[in-house]
Amino acid sequence: MAKKKNEEKVSVDDQKEDERKKSMSLIDLPGVGDATKKKLMDAGISSIKELALYPITRLVEDVGLGEKTAYKLVKAAQEIESMGFKSASAVWEKRKQLRRITTGSANFDELLGGGIETGAVTEIFGEFRTGKTQITHQLCVNVQLDHENGGLEGSAIYIDTEGTFRPERIIQMAEARDMDYNTVLKNIIVGRAYNSDHQILLAREAARFIEEKNVKLLVVDSIITHFRSEYIGRGTLANRQQLLNSHIHDLIRLSESYDELAVVFTNQVSAKPDMFYGNPIIHTGGHIIAHGSTIRLYLRKGKGEQRIARVVDAPHLPEEEAVFSITEDGIRD
Ligand code: ATP
Ligand code: MG
Repeated sequence: MAKKKNEEKVSVDDQKEDERKKSMSLIDLPGVGDATKKKLMDAGISSIKELALYPITRLVEDVGLGEKTAYKLVKAAQEIESMGFKSASAVWEKRKQLRRITTGSANFDELLGGGIETGAVTEIFGEFRTGKTQITHQLCVNVQLDHENGGLEGSAIYIDTEGTFRPERIIQMAEARDMDYNTVLKNIIVGRAYNSDHQILLAREAARFIEEKNVKLLVVDSIITHFRSEYIGRGTLANRQQLLNSHIHDLIRLSESYDELAVVFTNQVSAKPDMFYGNPIIHTGGHIIAHGSTIRLYLRKGKGEQRIARVVDAPHLPEEEAVFSITEDGIRD
């Protein structure tokens, strides 16, 4: 009995502690004044969790903080977020609660263990017209569905690097689901990225309104286009990979900072894959991208409107395939 009471007390205390942490913001950290806060916000760091996950060297080099300040801040943030070790059962409890966004196809969802995961980065890669952009459009609609229907009751941010975001398509998909398309469109925040620097900035800016706008999905379609066209030839490849790496880490940090945020980016299969590797299935961006995403999906064309999705090295999913279709109504079985 006494033990039970004790357990209850612990869980109430935990809850209180969680609430206290949730209500803390950057400004509550010792030594963070308006000037430091602005620097952090400009770098896309808007919460204590994001700061806790930020590399100290980048705080010094990119954000412009002094070394001592950077170290102190990150340490304080990590303590607040209790970022030490935890038991596997605590990790399991967290994963059990993890929500997913339906793709619109039962086959595809099953392949993914229920849909696109929150708290993770999913990469969708494949040749042109394999449906990468169609899927990301569909997810922007589906994330708005209620929980019973496979959504997260949230909004979406869409970083469009190729100019292929189409509200018309969103309207078709929303109407097919009997959703009010005006509301659906309002809940998708689109940023057209005109070059790779702009793309990086937009991803950092996105951090500012994730909480405020109840954002549950962040899309980058596609991650590589600008990087590929701006950094031509092997001479600048190292530079390009470094920038791409830090961009992808910004995305990872976001997915890890917000429990209910799914991050999805698309990637093209290189037309000249031998520039990087010999295998045509290997996508552009090389190791940097492959190691940046938690779940990688390779798409290829099937008959007519059919497409085949294959899971490529996810930590908990077998390498299987699913067939889905792209119809006027959107992604279906
Ligand atoms: P890219 O690498 O060129 O960006 P992608 O993988 O993003 O290609 P999508 O634009 O997602 O390709 O897919 C295009 C395909 O989606 C078309 O070939 C067509 O089959 C299908 N599609 C697009 N719009 C519709 C629609 N309104 N109704 C039915 N199918 C459509
Ligand atoms: Mg596309």
